[in-house]
Amino acid sequence: MKETILIVEDDKYILNFITISLKNEAYELCSAKTVKEAIETFYQRNPSVIILDLGLPDGDGIEVIQAIREVSQVPILVVSARQEEAQKIQALDHGADDYVTKPFSMGELMARIRVALRKGSVSLETHEARFEEEWLKVDYTTHQVWVDQTEVHLTPIEFKILKLLVDHRGKVLTHNYILSEVWGYDDEMTHANLRVFMATLRRKIEKEPGNPRFILTEVGVGYRFAG
Ligand code: CA
Repeated sequence: MKETILIVEDDKYILNFITISLKNEAYELCSAKTVKEAIETFYQRNPSVIILDLGLPDGDGIEVIQAIREVSQVPILVVSARQEEAQKIQALDHGADDYVTKPFSMGELMARIRVALRKGSVSLETHEARFEEEWLKVDYTTHQVWVDQTEVHLTPIEFKILKLLVDHRGKVLTHNYILSEVWGYDDEMTHANLRVFMATLRRKIEKEPGNPRFILTEVGVGYRFAG
């Protein structure tokens, strides 16, 4: 069955570029040019992935994310301009999965869509008891973590961060999202504190902490677990 992709974009040139890029890939395509149209088309077509421009004529793409996240976890890939850094982070905080920055290449877009589609199918397998890939094994029931069959000891906070990352693998998690999920809103944790925890976690689970395989940094935005 062909996967349906919804493209929300009011710029004709960019819409054309995305449509042409995806035509060869045998996806079913539909598009919308406004917030209103985007939400309507989402309900009509039930897409597997949504590519979302943030600046729309009748409002902000974030309104689309909010409306859809009330009913669906469909992967949302945000397309943002360089000057929209703050909006991009806001979009991720509201539940977008990933982003590409204009101008982007066809290859970059395709790679992001493939990750999003994979993520969409992973989240259907509910209640996984463990994660295992290459040298890393995580058991959610016993809270144990192994690197190459050797158990490594994580503190409860480190385990919480790791589980959060693994649960959302492929998705960009913003600093604020991780802080609020792990420590709650009212804490005085800062991005700098979080970096320290991430560095420790990398030293424990990565073979080359300086060139991580699993915990990737999204500069200025947050972290992404590549799994
Ligand atoms: Ca626009």
